[in-house]
Amino acid sequence: MSAEMGPLSFAVSRNERPRTEAERAEVLADPGFGKVFSDHMVLATWSKDRGWHDAQVRPYGPLSLMPSAAVLHYAQEVFEGLKAYRHADGSIWSFRPEANAQRLQRSCRRLALPELSVEDFVASLRELVAIDHQWVPPADSGEMSLYLRPFMFASEAFLGVRPADVVTYCVIASPAGAYFGAGLKPVTLWVSQDYARAGEGGTGAAKCGGNYASSLAGQLEGIGHGCDQAVFLDSATHTYVEELGGMNLFFVTDDHKLVTPELTGTILEGVTRSSILELAKELGLEPEERRIEIDEWKDAARSKGLREVFACGTAAVITPVGELRWDGGSADHRGDGPAIGEVTMTIRERLLDIQYGRAEDTHGWLTRLA
Ligand SMILES: *Cc1c(COP(=O)(O)O)cnc(C)c1O
Repeated sequence: MSAEMGPLSFAVSRNERPRTEAERAEVLADPGFGKVFSDHMVLATWSKDRGWHDAQVRPYGPLSLMPSAAVLHYAQEVFEGLKAYRHADGSIWSFRPEANAQRLQRSCRRLALPELSVEDFVASLRELVAIDHQWVPPADSGEMSLYLRPFMFASEAFLGVRPADVVTYCVIASPAGAYFGAGLKPVTLWVSQDYARAGEGGTGAAKCGGNYASSLAGQLEGIGHGCDQAVFLDSATHTYVEELGGMNLFFVTDDHKLVTPELTGTILEGVTRSSILELAKELGLEPEERRIEIDEWKDAARSKGLREVFACGTAAVITPVGELRWDGGSADHRGDGPAIGEVTMTIRERLLDIQYGRAEDTHGWLTRLA
């Protein structure tokens, strides 16, 4: 319906009480992740009879929702996550936002939500970044950015079970420091043997809140065993490595292969993941997507046949994995090598250099927002 009506136009109502420059500076000095939000947000409404309408930029603040809103009961919700990066000349860019827009459309189809056009999605980011550009940290701030969180949910006040006839789209923004705070530290992962985050025919390939809800018990179990995050296996056989609760996994083998679990329908197709697969060849690595048995990982880790393992996603970029723990054992695959592998560091720097405009964008991955 939105296609027939042309691109959305956004009505702007400015925040009368934006944070002062001093307040903003204090936040930007140590933003953490996802704690503080910029002065505005984007909202748009979809209804079955009108399609997308009433797009607006307005002050960041509470949403008004009936207790019967369908999302609160049946979790009909999807989201995205991407960043706005400031370059040295002051301009503001994002990394492959069209890929996020297309993924949101795929997620919407799976969750029976209405699709938003790629054009309207990118426009919504531009609107928010234009008005809140001062919330994008300066270029020389290290790894800081403005994290953008577009999301869509069933806002119709109705308890019947069917796709909602009224849906809300929203974008909020939060300044982000380096995801893991002080320095890049290898994480310890827990193999979740009993809990799965997704199953065949389910919503694992969609970016939806429900997948995160189902990953939390496994995450807690891992934390209980002194780990940082949980690794989930395929739900049918509990044999194959899938991904973390919110990050994809990569393995660097001794024969210079860069291996990642193939997309089986239960794994989320990360934009970072697909970018790394494209970068591999330039870095002299052979990319490979295949099934990986958890025993292969355990054995390789124990025999030190696995050079490096890392997790990847927009929020934390690339996170080295130091140790794997499971019920009855553990393996530290750092061996005598450096705490953080060379390939992991190279790929990480390469991605960040492109995102922050320090390296030429030979893939055409950057889109200017402001
Ligand atoms: C968002 C997400 C990722 C990472 O995707 P990016 O596009 O690289 O940020 C990986 N796994 C899950 C489950 C996710 O939700």
